[in-house]
Amino acid sequence: KEELNIIQGALELRTKTVEDVLTPLSDCYMISSDAVLDFCTMSDIMQSGFTRIPVYENERSNIVDILFVKDLAFVDPDDCTPLKTITQFYKHPMHYVFNDTKLDVMLEEFKRGKSHLAVVQRVNCEGEGDPFYEVMGIVTLEDVIEEIIKSEIVDE
Ligand code: ADP
Repeated sequence: KEELNIIQGALELRTKTVEDVLTPLSDCYMISSDAVLDFCTMSDIMQSGFTRIPVYENERSNIVDILFVKDLAFVDPDDCTPLKTITQFYKHPMHYVFNDTKLDVMLEEFKRGKSHLAVVQRVNCEGEGDPFYEVMGIVTLEDVIEEIIKSEIVDE
């Protein structure tokens, strides 16, 4: 039954990690920090349908900011505003978590409300060189909720 499913999902929050539910970097809709907010870029952002868009510098694994679509409310595409002007104005704080963060801990953090999107990173100690932080993807409150109710939330 539905209720049992939800209880099961809630219990599993303590064992599952953000790595189990994240959206991998390769599937993330992102924007380059040197983008210009012209008509083409802005309509692409609108069409993506996402609320928050990670901003990367040089390579996609280097996320430096988050753009909220609502930040674009006062932007006129004819002005061709550089994206940096907007991100430096709003300066939304970035929120990082490690891949092994349990979902109950993640839920508490989301509930505290700083941000409902976090960038998931892991320590990569493969290979010759020193260990380094590697971005794996993003996780949002919706990913955690879906794990509780055990079904996909279809976006508007
Ligand atoms: P939105 O409000 O943008 O629809 P949600 O927080 O409701 O985003 O998350 C819905 C799903 O979309 C989640 O699985 C989340 O990981 C994923 N998601 C959120 N933002 C992005 C993005 N910029 N690119 C790809 N997937 C995203």
